[in-house]
Amino acid sequence: MARYIGPVCKLCRREGAKLFLKGERCNSKCPIDKPTGSLVPGQHGKRRSKMTDYGKRLREKQKTKRIAGLLETSFYGYFKRARKMPGQTGETLLRLLEIRLDNVVRRLGFASSMASARQMVLHGHIKVDGKRVNIPSYSVSVGETITLFDGVKGNLAVQRSIASQIRKEIPAWLELDPSLMDTLGRSKDLPVDLSNIKVEGRMKLQPKREEMSYPVNDQYIVELYSK
Ligand code: SF4
Repeated sequence: MARYIGPVCKLCRREGAKLFLKGERCNSKCPIDKPTGSLVPGQHGKRRSKMTDYGKRLREKQKTKRIAGLLETSFYGYFKRARKMPGQTGETLLRLLEIRLDNVVRRLGFASSMASARQMVLHGHIKVDGKRVNIPSYSVSVGETITLFDGVKGNLAVQRSIASQIRKEIPAWLELDPSLMDTLGRSKDLPVDLSNIKVEGRMKLQPKREEMSYPVNDQYIVELYSK
């Protein structure tokens, strides 16, 4: 599937907000935190003109699409699916994005950014209910178990990412294996030996709107596509 491979900080600068596309690195070296961070990228970047109503709606849609790491065709495909489903279209759209396998892997802490979560899934490091799944767009269902293959659980970056997510708190709609939480939550020196521990999480519930990763006005996206 096609994906954006250009510079990602430029996307945050275009939106004028931190979209956390680089995982942990966004907390230390972020160009948005610099004095020039508010400038729009490009030759005429200093001019951030007053936004029209259309512009505001377009920016909310772009921001959501960029956080999800999708291009227009697949994003619009999710919108069309959400429109046919019961409930509020905007919220349903964000829920469909939230339960994608790559996002669940990221929210469990197995990867620190959406891009690395997607790579982990594509490289076949993830099992869903015991079966290898290498499709990042796979929709995780309530009760399904997400497990990391044994070959990568000793990886320092993976363990750091899980430990950091445990400190930040695992979202209420997901749960991590208690022995993994205990081991990585209290270990100061990483990597640790996880050979007897399953690096595993489970989706307990459907995510609520306030628990999703998208700080956007979903109604604006619906209005943009409904014109
Ligand atoms: Fe770059 Fe992350 Fe900052 Fe965005 S939040 S500008 S991806 S460092």
